[in-house]
Amino acid sequence: MAPKKRSERKRKTETETERPDESGGGDASEHRIISKEKTEGKGEHKYIGAHVSIAGGLWKAVEASVEMKGRSFALFLGSQRSWKRPALDSAAAVKFQEACNSHGFQPNHILPHGSYLMNCGSPKQDVFEKSQAMLVDELSRCSALGLTQFNLHPGASRDSSTEECLDRIAQAINHAHQQVPAVTTVLENMSGQGSTVGGQFSELKGIIDQVRDQSRIGVCLDTCHAFAAGYDISLPGGVKSMLEEFDKVVGLQYLRAFHLNDSKGKLGCHLDRHEDIGRGQIGLNAFREIVNEPLLDNIPLILETPGRPGFEYAEQIELLYSLCED
Ligand SMILES: [Zn+2]
Ligand SMILES: [Zn+2]
Repeated sequence: MAPKKRSERKRKTETETERPDESGGGDASEHRIISKEKTEGKGEHKYIGAHVSIAGGLWKAVEASVEMKGRSFALFLGSQRSWKRPALDSAAAVKFQEACNSHGFQPNHILPHGSYLMNCGSPKQDVFEKSQAMLVDELSRCSALGLTQFNLHPGASRDSSTEECLDRIAQAINHAHQQVPAVTTVLENMSGQGSTVGGQFSELKGIIDQVRDQSRIGVCLDTCHAFAAGYDISLPGGVKSMLEEFDKVVGLQYLRAFHLNDSKGKLGCHLDRHEDIGRGQIGLNAFREIVNEPLLDNIPLILETPGRPGFEYAEQIELLYSLCED
């Protein structure tokens, strides 16, 4: 990138980080203007953002998204290390919702990501039960935060069959839906590493078919996972082909979000190793096709890339918007 462009970017970031104080009245209106400018520019129907940290409080995720000019975001709803997490702090929940409102983030552009500890497909009864309980807890947290969808890694079969695994996952989802109203569970496609299920679209369909409330189940397509699972989006027209395949097998009506990641691993390698946009085996063209694909309007398009120094989320979001042709 040319040095001139970089200094322009830096200047914008500095303006954005000037926050008067925590109450931030004037701050909010300033950001509304910024996001309005963006909606009038290129890619106005594209909601590109990133998975952001909640260190220091849930609302910090909102602030980080604003700083990087994200229009959507993902976050964890608690610690990734523990099965037993402290209850959601109601003051923090209020602060989070206020931040979302003042910066104009709608619930359908926010996609919380589930804890990596969960395996709702586990053949081990204790792991299954803990995972099922955690799924209930995750959906309850979404509800308490006014969020409407939740991103779940389906699970892994371990030493059981894929079919049994898909059955258990659907059972856990049905149970959680019974316990918590309204929130939609969004299954993520996987790379097919080890015994994880959801690498093939047919496996996602196998779960979806068993979910009782069809209005509360969806899919988030992760580009790195899809490529690693064998869907070649690096080819010209590759994104369109993948979406056609998805429509045929699952149905586009279930598509709720995308994760935008390049892949360190080669096509079909089954490795879940994310790379910065345009710097991996997928390449920039697929992402150009994604940000210009009308089927992906108005859904969260979320980065989960390493974000190396000099090419962090803000730069990758800017790059992606620069690829938008209208
Ligand atoms: Zn994920
Ligand atoms: Zn992902």
